[in-house]
Amino acid sequence: MNLNQTRLKLRQNNMTKRTTKQRAFALDDNGRGIVRINEKTVFVDDLLTDEEAEITTTYKYGKLKYATLEKRLTTSPDRVEPKCQYYNSCGGCNLMHLSYSKQLEYKQQKVQNLLHKFAHIDVEVNPTLGMENPYNFRNKIQVPVRLDSNGKIITGFFKKNSHEIIEIDGCLIENKRARPLLNAVKRSMEVFNVLPYDEINHDGILRHIIIRTSLHYDQVMLVLVTTKKDFSKKQGFVGKILEECPQITTIIQNINSEKTNVILGKTEKILHGPGYIKDSILGKDFLISSLSFYQTNPSQTEKLYSVALDEANISKSDTVLDAYSGIGTIGICASTKAQNVTCVEVVSSAVDDAKNNARMNNIKNINFIKDDCTNYIINNKVSFDVVFLDPPRKGSTPDFLNALKEISPKKIIYISCNPVTLSRDLTFLLDKYEIKSVTPVDMFPQSSHVETVVSLELKNLS
Ligand code: SAH
Repeated sequence: MNLNQTRLKLRQNNMTKRTTKQRAFALDDNGRGIVRINEKTVFVDDLLTDEEAEITTTYKYGKLKYATLEKRLTTSPDRVEPKCQYYNSCGGCNLMHLSYSKQLEYKQQKVQNLLHKFAHIDVEVNPTLGMENPYNFRNKIQVPVRLDSNGKIITGFFKKNSHEIIEIDGCLIENKRARPLLNAVKRSMEVFNVLPYDEINHDGILRHIIIRTSLHYDQVMLVLVTTKKDFSKKQGFVGKILEECPQITTIIQNINSEKTNVILGKTEKILHGPGYIKDSILGKDFLISSLSFYQTNPSQTEKLYSVALDEANISKSDTVLDAYSGIGTIGICASTKAQNVTCVEVVSSAVDDAKNNARMNNIKNINFIKDDCTNYIINNKVSFDVVFLDPPRKGSTPDFLNALKEISPKKIIYISCNPVTLSRDLTFLLDKYEIKSVTPVDMFPQSSHVETVVSLELKNLS
């Protein structure tokens, strides 16, 4: 489209564009530069604090729609060349253009800002605990499989702000052992003519490939997410993958026949091996099955749990609750210090894994309850001395938090992957609890996500 055609199209849509020189004064929660244009706050991709740039703003019916960077005029000393060739198009990472030490400072500041903004909490946030080598840390990759317009099988990640897949040959944050396996699955699809999923016609066989690698053991899990249970080429297809990659210790077929963006279905079939892999955290072994949650950055998980356990300062007479316990990792790590531990988790396969994990580590002072945490705490009203809570991104519930206050544990350790819901949840606790420390841990280098451990102590109200 030439300039006149662009102008005409804009006029037809009642759109206008304006290019002005601007300077970013901070980064937003998603790592975008923040600028003020005509008293409006605007967020710009790939612009760092203090960088000046020509920014084009697009208005529809006079209302600002979006802002794009035309040309960077100055370069921040904190800017680095992203190592990944797909960085500008892939929606996975969003901070790779910021030096790693500044990423850690950014996350510390982000937690500080959000606690202030959503909970009026002004405490000093500790420096973010980072990685020595912030690459190749992800122990799990899950990639969609599709046919491109030329009929070629492609695997990749979603493009920024879109549902379109870009083909990716390698990812710098994934465990190095995953990629050869993914390529072997693709080759076997070609040989046995196993069709990728076609989202529009809801047709084809293979939707997603998931690979989970153990950090401490030579074990790898492959999950094939398929549209149906049986497909005629299965035997040969799986046989060829195993022949090429004998390092795969287990293969699981997950069946998801729904029209949905949710990756995993509810039914599974073990095609090879035991159906789980083993990893270890802080000297304890854990079996992980395909439907159970397991932290994706295993070496940082040890730092995360170490902070949580140090802050909890558990003594032999303490009773401990591990709420939102997954496969029981925190509870099992805490059990050797405590009198006893109760783990509560809603996903039954995770609870099964957790029970096996306790048995495998020969831990007897622990029990596992499959329940919704809010139901459990309201219906049981058992008291605990120390409570760990590690809910999913949406956080906990007011009912859980109010019931928690009633049972009054002397220590609460809140582990959160979302500082917004963390802030909201803390507001329920602060009349009875005092924040002792806030420590961000970098579980997700190269992205703006941050994990936080907050240590709370019961106030002496007498
Ligand atoms: N503490 C674990 C798991 C944290 S992820 C670890 O560090 O690995 C959060 C967990 O909460 C997941 O296992 C999820 O299945 C579980 N969960 C989500 N909603 C829940 C609810 N309402 N009640 C109990 N568990 C829940």
